[in-house]
Amino acid sequence: MTSSVTVRVPAKINLMLQVGPLLPDGYHHLATVFHAVSVFDEVTATVTDPEVGDDDISVTVEGPGAADVPLDDSNLAVRAAVLLSDYAGGREPVRLHIRKGIPVAGGMAGGSADAAGALLACDALWRARVGRPRLFEVAAELGADVPFALLGGTAVGSGRGDRLTPALARGDYHWVIALAGRGLATPDVYKELDRLRSGRVLPQPRVPVSMMQALRRGDPDSVGALLSNDLQPATLSLLPDLERTLAVGTEYGALGGVVSGSGPTVVFLARDPEHALDLSVALTASGAAAEVRRVRGPVPGARIVPSAHGEADS
Ligand code: ATP
Repeated sequence: MTSSVTVRVPAKINLMLQVGPLLPDGYHHLATVFHAVSVFDEVTATVTDPEVGDDDISVTVEGPGAADVPLDDSNLAVRAAVLLSDYAGGREPVRLHIRKGIPVAGGMAGGSADAAGALLACDALWRARVGRPRLFEVAAELGADVPFALLGGTAVGSGRGDRLTPALARGDYHWVIALAGRGLATPDVYKELDRLRSGRVLPQPRVPVSMMQALRRGDPDSVGALLSNDLQPATLSLLPDLERTLAVGTEYGALGGVVSGSGPTVVFLARDPEHALDLSVALTASGAAAEVRRVRGPVPGARIVPSAHGEADS
């Protein structure tokens, strides 16, 4: 019997993000281009023995920032497993273990990645076979960024970010990401954005045609020049030090730099792997970031990690 399944899930960055006005339900309509990058969490789901008194669904977390991740029912991976078991009509108890590689509260959708990982792992473990379309519906119920963590690649997001269309995108992109060493709560950033924009008439968010053309051409110079994020002024208002991080990247010739999602992670596009190395050395030496990593995109969405025994441990 299969007793354990591990899923690897990437982080996302937003190549552009436009945020519409605050809606009466408290949400905002978005237009965004998601891009999955090579920073990963791993979620392992293991069947537990109810006889030993384990919780139905429990979670443990290891890795950087693990102490800031809740271990109760508010953990997004736990919520994902609970929701899937509701859809699938109840299944055997499961223990989830998360290995964090994605910065916690960094604007790279780490919690959403864990939710997507738990969905895929539990679907395989329970042999629930809810199917891709249903899995995407459950994902959208869990959070706006969860469907993209399942899909990966490069995709246009609309609605709350959960309506996805894969983008025609060519080529590999080399990124340098600057981590801030502290987190920002996404709702605080949206609140600050609403404050900064209060009284302004805002257009409907849309993805510029120029960005889609640049992606289709596989043109990093144009993609770099078109990186944008409506949340950035709000993030910078809450964390003004990030101005310096952005300035250092620009000074060292990044094709573009932008705050990722709600931040505080800042991402820079490099010309090629060598340029990414130069940029990362400069950023590290400047002290303008707590940690600097080189990553690439696009990468696929959540995938089961094959074990020595095949698709899952037995
Ligand atoms: P966003 O998706 O809004 O960009 P983020 O990447 O900035 O989010 P996350 O790492 O997803 O931030 O975490 C946001 C908060 O969600 C954390 O502070 C934590 O309290 C909570 N959370 C719940 N479950 C998880 C999880 N499995 N991993 C990380 N954070 C989680």
